[in-house]
Formats: sequence, structure tokens, C-alpha cells
Amino acid sequence: MEERIVSAHLHSEDDVQIEMGLRPKSFDEYIGQEKIKEKLAIYVRAAQERNEALDHVLLYGPPGLGKTTLAHIIAWELGVSIRVTSGPAIERPGDLAALLTNLGHGDVLFIDEIHRLNRSVEEILYPAMEDNALDIIIGKGPGARSLRLDLPPFTMIGATVRAGLLTSPLRDRFGVLDRLDFYTPEELEKIILRSAGILKVKAEKEGASIIARASRGTPRVANRLLKRVRDFAQVKADNIITAEVAGEALKMLQLDLRGLDEIDRRLLRALIEKFDGGPVGLDTLATCISEEPETLEDVYEPYLMQLGLLKRTARGRTATGEAYLYLNLPPKDEPQQQLW
Ligand code: ADP
Repeated sequence: MEERIVSAHLHSEDDVQIEMGLRPKSFDEYIGQEKIKEKLAIYVRAAQERNEALDHVLLYGPPGLGKTTLAHIIAWELGVSIRVTSGPAIERPGDLAALLTNLGHGDVLFIDEIHRLNRSVEEILYPAMEDNALDIIIGKGPGARSLRLDLPPFTMIGATVRAGLLTSPLRDRFGVLDRLDFYTPEELEKIILRSAGILKVKAEKEGASIIARASRGTPRVANRLLKRVRDFAQVKADNIITAEVAGEALKMLQLDLRGLDEIDRRLLRALIEKFDGGPVGLDTLATCISEEPETLEDVYEPYLMQLGLLKRTARGRTATGEAYLYLNLPPKDEPQQQLW
């Protein structure tokens, strides 16, 4: 399946080198999420002054909002090394044990998609996070013995889309839990202008503002759109991203001014035309657009809800009056009021 230009996930075609170059290195360079940044900067400073490891941090929120970036920044600000891995990459307890025993004093271990750790691996983490201890079982059957190894103090940073996806024993072991929110168009505009500077492309404020509004509140999408608009500016215009160039490029990419694409429209249209605007269950709706229910829930829906086009109710998903307007469809008939 072709990848969506506005998907917040890392695409196979995204150039990792460029991604790295655009990634802010310090709290100062990291735009937005002011409250989280302020809190984390204080915790980092306090940990440094006490010469202790920072408490374990769980960052959650939709993909592409800067969780991995923040983990790198925290390590950089602490002046320690970071090891990066992900839930699905750690298959066996031994893989995790190897990572943990290689950590230096105060280092950061970053686990992306931490909710996807398997149970046996997760159990190794509990004593590691709580007591800096690694319990290893030696041998099998009745003769098996448990051995406890000491680990240096370290900071675990976990990332996930929703904190509720973690088991409660794991969630309880994080001292700092922070939810990242979608960025405002103004913040995204700043991110785009900063990235344009790094990529050495000229962008006018108005051009950046148009890209920002179509970026679905997500820096990763903003950077990807910027790269596409840059190509367009280079070939079709004078290498300058003006409002007009940005608008034309979005049209070519089949995005509207709020960054909604054909898949969003298909989803809303199915909800309205097949299910009379809902409520309809998540699984049924996901089948309509051939997507996994989890992807629909964690990636598509948050932005549609933020725009007020879709609602989650106890009985299922419903389309709002705004969604009918957006698709130019006649509004759902209100039940006739009984007059006598
Ligand atoms: P996540 O881990 O939440 O999926 P990432 O940390 O990988 O997201 O961020 C995706 C990209 O967006 C990064 O490569 C970075 O260039 C950019 N980015 C994220 N947050 C910010 C920010 N606050 N300021 C500037 N750029 C950002």
C-alpha cells in the first residue's frame, strides 16, 4: 500500500540522515510543549546537582510529536549516553539483560513502543527500574537458581501512543509521565522555518504558515511536507516557498488546507453514507478503510477529533454536523418533534 504523505509514522523513504539533521539537540532548540520542557529541564538540573540518575520518564502521545527527540535531548542535557531500542526489537529477556548490563552510570535507555514488550521481558524490567537489579535464572527445572546482579543507576525513557496501553505494574514504575499534545499552527510554522534554514531552502512566512496548517499538528508531517514543497518550488517556481507555491503543492499532493487527504474523506464518507453518521464500532469502521483498528484509533482519529469532525461516544464513532458540511452532504435528519 502506498504510504500517506500525512502519516505521522516514519516512512521507509524518509531519509534518516535528514531526519537526524532536523532533530533539535537541546531544550532551547525544541519548539513548543513548553510545560513539559520546563518541568523536564528542572528535573534534569536537580538530578545533575544531586549527581543522581533522573527518574524514569514515560512520554506518550500520537506518533511524530517528538518523543524520541525529547529522549535524546534529555540525555544530551544530562551529559550521558543514550541507548535506543524498541519494544518489538527486544525479543528475549537476554536481549534486555545485555542492554542493561552495558549501561554506564546515569545513562538513558530509550524504549520506543514500550507497550509492545513481551511479558517475560517486561518482568526483567520491574526489579531493574525499581532496585537497579537484574534477576537472572541459571539452569532449568528443579535445579534452577536465581542470581541477582547490581546495575548502575540509569534512566529509563519509554514512549508509547497511550499510557493506558501499558500494564499497570510497568506504568507505576515511571516517576514522570507526560503527554505530548498536537502542536499549534504557530509552533509548526516556527519548526518549518527552522527546518527550511537547515535544508537551505528559502521560505516566506506566509508559505510556511500554509504548510503548518496542513501538518496535522505534527512536526514529522511538517518536515515531510516541507521537503515535498521544496521540490515543487525548485521545479515549478523560483526556489522560494511563497504562499502560492505552498498552496499549489498541497493541491498536487491532494491535501486540503487542514491536511486532510483522501483516506480521511473516505473514512468520514463511509461513516455518514453507510452508517447514517454512526454510532458505529471501531472495528467495523476500520474494516471500511482496510486499516487496523489500533491505527485508526491512535493515528487517524485524534486529528479528526481535534478538528471536530468525529466524536467517540460510548456506543461508537459518530460524524459531527461539521463532517456533513465538510463533505457537502445534507445534514442528518433530526427526529421530527412531536407537536401534539
Ligand atoms: P516520535 O518519537 O514522537 O514519533 P520524533 O521525536 O521522531 O517523534 O519526531 C519526529 C521529527 O519531528 C523529528 O525528526 C524532528 O525533526 C521533528 N520534531 C519533533 N518535535 C520537534 C520540536 N519540538 N521542534 C522541532 N522539531 C521537532
